[in-house]
Amino acid sequence: MISAGGERGLIMVIEDEAAIAGVMRLNLVKAGYGVHIEREGAAGLAAIRALKPAAVILDIGLPGLDGIEVCRRLRAMNDWTPVLFVTARDDEVDRIVGLELGADDYVTKPFSPRELVARVTSVLRRSQGSPDDVTSLVVGAVRLDPAERRAYCAGSEVELTATEFDLLGYLMRRPGRVFSREQLISEVWGYSAAGGVRTVDVHIAQVRAKLGSASPIRTVRGVGYAVDSTAPRGVGPAAGPR
Ligand code: CA
Repeated sequence: MISAGGERGLIMVIEDEAAIAGVMRLNLVKAGYGVHIEREGAAGLAAIRALKPAAVILDIGLPGLDGIEVCRRLRAMNDWTPVLFVTARDDEVDRIVGLELGADDYVTKPFSPRELVARVTSVLRRSQGSPDDVTSLVVGAVRLDPAERRAYCAGSEVELTATEFDLLGYLMRRPGRVFSREQLISEVWGYSAAGGVRTVDVHIAQVRAKLGSASPIRTVRGVGYAVDSTAPRGVGPAAGPR
């Protein structure tokens, strides 16, 4: 079922609990989004392919195909629609991290409707990028092309989610500076840090898994993260893969 309106884009909600899905729809519609609800994983996956939503809100605990499997299959089809996971338990967060699913963010039940809408808006803003970025960023073997939102490692293209791209780009633009998780949440995600700082660790882990030993991100124990200023660095015009 698709709600009327939706000038800000279509959001796909895949959630088997009707009451929760209803609250999500109410608040997303109020914020100007169109909403399509599916209650089961396989049907949700088919609906994403058919309707091409701007973003997906994906419950992990679904009957049949669970949310993690839905996301895995979506990414396997090279579909990088932004995914916001809804988790009921902390160990589900560990699974999102460990499986490197290309999640863009997650919220933990119970969540406030306002928080959910803020996260959706933030995920969409990040996935749409900034038109002001025209130069590429290089640190060591890693190069980001912000204009085309492409990432390269040792000359080969690496698939980063919108959030991973923005997080890495934020740090690469400011080499040598150390940022706390709270600062990164505020600057990259665009909302206040209340309870969401673990999101940063999730995405740092995903970026590192994709870049391997070329990852320029350094953990500063007890503080946060930085991109090393000692790594070879240069800024030049955007260019294609070599
Ligand atoms: Ca559920």
